[in-house]
Amino acid sequence: MVVAQDKATTCKLLIDGAWVDSKATEFGEVNNPSTGELIAKVPMGGSDDVDRAVQAAQKAFLEWREVPVVERARVMFRFKNLLDAHYEDIAKSVVREHGKTIAEARASTMRGIEVVEFACGVPSLIMGESMENIARNVDIETVRHPLGVCAGITPFNFPAMVPLWMYPVAITCGNSFVLKPSEKVPLTSMLIAEFLKEAGLPDGVFNIVHGGKDCVNALLTHPLIKAISFVGSTHVAKHVYETGTKHGKRVQSAGGAKNHIIIMPDADMDQTVQALQASAFGCAGERCMAGSLAIPVGEAGNMLIPQLVESAGKMKVGRTDIDDTIDMGPVVSKEHLAKVTALIEKGVKEGADPVLDGRKLKVKDAPDGYFLGPTILEAKADNTVVREEIFGPVLSCVRVETIEDAIKLGENCEYGNGAVIYTSSGRAAREFKHRFNAGMIGINVGVPAPMAWFPFTGWNNSFFGDLHIQGKESIQFYTQQKMTMTRWVAPSKGSTKFHDPIWKAKS
Ligand code: NAD
Repeated sequence: MVVAQDKATTCKLLIDGAWVDSKATEFGEVNNPSTGELIAKVPMGGSDDVDRAVQAAQKAFLEWREVPVVERARVMFRFKNLLDAHYEDIAKSVVREHGKTIAEARASTMRGIEVVEFACGVPSLIMGESMENIARNVDIETVRHPLGVCAGITPFNFPAMVPLWMYPVAITCGNSFVLKPSEKVPLTSMLIAEFLKEAGLPDGVFNIVHGGKDCVNALLTHPLIKAISFVGSTHVAKHVYETGTKHGKRVQSAGGAKNHIIIMPDADMDQTVQALQASAFGCAGERCMAGSLAIPVGEAGNMLIPQLVESAGKMKVGRTDIDDTIDMGPVVSKEHLAKVTALIEKGVKEGADPVLDGRKLKVKDAPDGYFLGPTILEAKADNTVVREEIFGPVLSCVRVETIEDAIKLGENCEYGNGAVIYTSSGRAAREFKHRFNAGMIGINVGVPAPMAWFPFTGWNNSFFGDLHIQGKESIQFYTQQKMTMTRWVAPSKGSTKFHDPIWKAKS
């Protein structure tokens, strides 16, 4: 059924409802991170491919926007049923190309399906406002119109979920869409595209192109594209925002993160250790909401760190593609493994103490997998591993004396996605919630990633734009408002121009 699911096949583009070849001459590799095995080749397309997809999307948009919103939503209801029916296939595809555990793949797929549930409610959410007699005999109303062709550019870490953050809402609002999935994990999006077609989405409303930088730049500059949704690292997010807006597009651009986790001495340490371990090492740390910097306050350091080192050291790391009992899988690629390892080495050179060192890990029967064990680095606040995003199974740890010191560390952070406090003090929690310099706050919640009905509110260099992904802001992002003022007045007395029985009867 799905072209790119075959062994080491070359990924096709989805244009106007058909799987077609790219015009690219260069190809990237999709590998199973557990084994290093080549599972697909992905064309590194450019402006030719993008233009074909956008032209098809523009043609489809002109008809799709006229389809009543309740009918568009019905496609989403059917899509949701198909996603439920194929839930396990999708999760397995995520494991195969990304390497996370099956439990993590299932959970993130569910988060993506919830966006489709949200999109089923677009008829209620897209309604405008109206008021009678805003001035004498004048009525006013606003309605929301779709924008046109929208594009989505997504990262490697959530092959199903992050693309699903975007197109279900954009499409149900009446737009057409071109998705460029991460070239490292394009297969799951191709699988899911089949379900959109089966759900009755007309050809051309949803299209897929493949590639990297050139493909993204072609999307950012194409005159027919009206809006860009991006999720990825901060330096690319900034480039996407600047280039897209320069070319007259709406852009929502989510970037990287360094999520601070404050642990107060009054926290329940057993629960905190479990939650922190899941936050830092879940999905091998490849989550933009992963807890990546632990900040134990006062005595919390001595209680937390030895317990965490012991517990994380027992995590079962291995091949997620054949073993459902694994606690942590590989990182996504050989290059990413080298990058994460180099950052650990840099941190250690700068004085960090590797109290748990995952570099020593060897996974039996998987010599070519991209494995790194859970790593905990005790460091000073100015160490690279404390300031920079690592995006691997590495938890940096800085001890501080007071909650004030912990909040100050947040003020100096260039990112601002998530921040968490573990405490049993309402006062400490309130102070933290009010003052901490980040957009998504967790209080005794390890990964405070909002579900589909609420926006993903990154701050600072974790987000560029005005309207965030998910929630009601996504409806605003994918629509433009039209305001109409209406005046119907009675004709002047004696006028013969109008034949108005009501007026006649009154006069
Ligand atoms: P990335 O920035 O390397 O790639 C993201 C997308 O941008 C991909 O589709 C890629 O093809 C494209 N791209 C890469 N380099 C480019 C360039 N120079 N010019 C134009 N396009 C380019 O990110 P990644 O490594 O795939 O994903 C990990 C990053 O994503 C992390 O920084 C993580 O924090 C972030 N992320 C953020 C969120 C969020 O909601 N804020 C969610 C998930 C991931």
